[in-house]
Amino acid sequence: MSMNVAVYPGSFDPITLGHLNIIRRSAAVFDKLLVCVVVNSGKNPLFTIEERVELIRRTVARFPNVEVESSEELVVEYMKTRGARVMIKGLRAVSDFDWEFRIALVNKKIEPTIETLFMPSSEKYTYLSSSVVREIASYGGDLKAFVPKEIIDDVARKVERWR
Ligand code: ADP
Repeated sequence: MSMNVAVYPGSFDPITLGHLNIIRRSAAVFDKLLVCVVVNSGKNPLFTIEERVELIRRTVARFPNVEVESSEELVVEYMKTRGARVMIKGLRAVSDFDWEFRIALVNKKIEPTIETLFMPSSEKYTYLSSSVVREIASYGGDLKAFVPKEIIDDVARKVERWR
């Protein structure tokens, strides 16, 4: 039987506890999960793509079936080269749905064999986004409740130079 490989794409600038929650739960239901850092042209980034990949790798080191990569291709193209059929999207609120639903339909049009699966955020993290993390960090706030402990210092240090 072939492996069931899922991809969890995002900008992860930086990875939050909300992302980590989706990664942990997805890794538990697929043979393999590929976390893919993608370029988001609309955002002014804090971390480079390479730095984001490194921060995620450090955070998910304890999950044997999770791998972290980046891609400059369309996610569906990346998925074809990796033999992945399922794209995971986390949903925090109804407001995420409208956009994600349209993206899912576009992706289906481009590549009909690929399925998008929506995973609801844990209620603990519905308010959490990378932009919230960047905002709190820019005021020197405590990041413990928002990002994985492995990367707290990196985010705090990076923002100091960015301010
Ligand atoms: P952000 O909005 O934090 O910049 P990304 O572009 O990195 O997020 O999002 C990657 C994926 O993770 C998307 O599917 C997004 O809906 C999901 N996601 C982001 N934050 C959370 C959260 N707190 N809980 C669940 N899913 C989330």
